[in-house]
Amino acid sequence: MKKYFIILLVIIIIFGLVFWRVKISTAPTLPGDQTHPLSVTNDSAVSAPATVSPAQKNAVLKAPLDRAKERVTKKYFGIFITPASSPVQPERFRGYHTGTDFEIFPEELNTVVPVQAICDGKLILKKSASGYGGVAVQSCNLDNQPVTVVYGHLKLTSIAKSIGDNLSAGDTLGQLGAAYSPETDGERKHLHLSIHKGSAINILGYVQNKSALSDWVDPCQYACK
Ligand SMILES: [Zn+2]
Repeated sequence: MKKYFIILLVIIIIFGLVFWRVKISTAPTLPGDQTHPLSVTNDSAVSAPATVSPAQKNAVLKAPLDRAKERVTKKYFGIFITPASSPVQPERFRGYHTGTDFEIFPEELNTVVPVQAICDGKLILKKSASGYGGVAVQSCNLDNQPVTVVYGHLKLTSIAKSIGDNLSAGDTLGQLGAAYSPETDGERKHLHLSIHKGSAINILGYVQNKSALSDWVDPCQYACK
């Protein structure tokens, strides 16, 4: 008698398990139910890159400074600079400018000028470097390709984030270095912004061959507003 009871119990348990499985797999899903695997799959399908137009992607790049477009008055992307012909005097550099220079307005000479991150991505370098004073590099994606963004002539101690920290577009990265000081390596107070293709760090401000400019992207195609 006890044997039959155990067999009956096992059969009931098996039926119970089968019924439970069927009920789970046919359970209706509420729209936006984040806890159900199916609805998570649907959500990610909605935000898949294929559905985002290039214009929408570009819109996520922020200007590094306010009134950015008005500030590009001296060295734009790709300009060939020599000590004799440079719009900045005196000049010590020669070559094709790999980035865009954003000038300060006269009233900003002795005030704090904050610089914003132009994209979402990690801070991968901050140091003092020849030609820049303080320089920061951020890794980002642009049109689904990896790029590194160089922010030159910053006050190094104003960069609060550490290497590896994430920055969102529009977050304050730091401040412009003081004019003609070690913070700018003796340069005028301004921002040098360049976007280098790929994930390798390259902070060169000038290249000697025009063809080498193809390794950089004109920041004003994306971040001058
Ligand atoms: Zn520059």
